[in-house]
Amino acid sequence: MKKLWQIAQKINTDHCSISFDEPMKEHTTFRIGGPADLFIRPRSILAFKEVLELLQIENVPFFILGGGANILVGDKGIRGAVIDTSLLSSIMHLKQKNKNDPILLYAECGVPLITLCEEAQVCGLSGLENFYGMPGSLGGSIYMNARCYEDDISTHIQDLTIIDNQGRFKILPASAQSWSYKRSPFMPGGELESFIICAASFRLISDDPKKIAERMCFRMRDRMQKRHFNFPSAGSMFKNNHDFGKPTGKILDELGLRNYRVGNALISPWHANIFVNIGEASARDMKELIEYAQKVVHNATGFCLEPEVLFVGEF
Ligand SMILES: Cc1cc2nc3c(=O)[nH]c(=O)nc-3n(C[C@H](O)[C@H](O)[C@H](O)COP(=O)(O)OP(=O)(O)OC[C@H]3O[C@@H](n4cnc5c(N)ncnc54)[C@H](O)[C@@H]3O)c2cc1C
Repeated sequence: MKKLWQIAQKINTDHCSISFDEPMKEHTTFRIGGPADLFIRPRSILAFKEVLELLQIENVPFFILGGGANILVGDKGIRGAVIDTSLLSSIMHLKQKNKNDPILLYAECGVPLITLCEEAQVCGLSGLENFYGMPGSLGGSIYMNARCYEDDISTHIQDLTIIDNQGRFKILPASAQSWSYKRSPFMPGGELESFIICAASFRLISDDPKKIAERMCFRMRDRMQKRHFNFPSAGSMFKNNHDFGKPTGKILDELGLRNYRVGNALISPWHANIFVNIGEASARDMKELIEYAQKVVHNATGFCLEPEVLFVGEF
């Protein structure tokens, strides 16, 4: 801890805010998670790059935090540093040089996806409506290749601005990378593994802002009706798999897992693939609940459920 304290002294606090022992439950939609040793919030993309360089030189492990909407952080927290991207939140409507060029909306990685959709709507730009209401940041949605209403975020990206593993900025066409169901090239084993997402530009089309707003409201209403925001959660717990022949939620449901509870971690009564924190649940409770569901499904069907939610830190 002393070493981290010394390293923190080298961070320019005009460029970044820092804190120690930051409770991660304040930064996850599950409202679960122990302390992060060092919590750094860069105020600009350049500061983000500087901090990454420093941590790499000093050999400090780090975790990049978006909206915390797809992670389960252990009760013992995260050793090393967490870099919170929430202040990297600029959005720009890029002007077309030629009439036939695509219309592009550029945004930094910390922009909440909800804000990005709202900005596109105000500019009369259509394409992102299906993502309205999904919690999390642009960076997290790209890392996860978020998918809403059978629409993958990757299909809307023109270019990615990244920091590669040599610490250099690069702009890459998204179409040159491999994307698949809930998989991005940034994940382990992908061609951009351990690269950092700084920003992206989205290819959109002009439409009437009123019509765009209607389509967005339709999606938000659907999420509210499905009770997505009733209790802290991280959305769907497990991925779907075509080989199972039916959605994972249905398999869990048929095995009577709705309402199964470990401590204050509960398989929701309204959707068996949504696991919720009904009040101060621990990461340990949630992990036990996940493992129990996996065991029941495996014993009954032979299927191995793959969590969509990522496990971060020490449990
Ligand atoms: C109520 C609810 C509903 C949801 N519905 C959906 C849904 O319909 N579809 C869906 O796909 N998901 C859904 N989710 C899950 C979640 O919203 C998405 O996965 C979202 O994209 C996660 O983004 P985030 O910023 O919160 O990522 P985080 O949880 O903060 O991080 C996820 C991963 O991304 C990495 N990461 C984040 N930013 C960067 C960056 N700049 N560079 C490199 N790596 C980065 C993190 O290190 C981590 O490995 C839902 C969640 C909730 C709570």
